Amino acid sequence: MKASKSKLKAEEIIRALPKAELHVHLIGSIRPETLLSIVEEEGLEPPSDRWRT
Ligand SMILES: [Zn+2]
Repeated sequence: MKASKSKLKAEEIIRALPKAELHVHLIGSIRPETLLSIVEEEGLEPPSDRWRT
């Protein structure tokens, strides 16, 4: 019983800690249309055809 109580407390502490995003994947984080408009604005080449919708 004591072990599960301390496990619960550890989980509460972990949940309460501030979180940071270490990195973000472009795919899934930006609409392809948005990425392509930024690429166009900046005069860059799109990374690959799979960005095209
Ligand atoms: Zn990753």
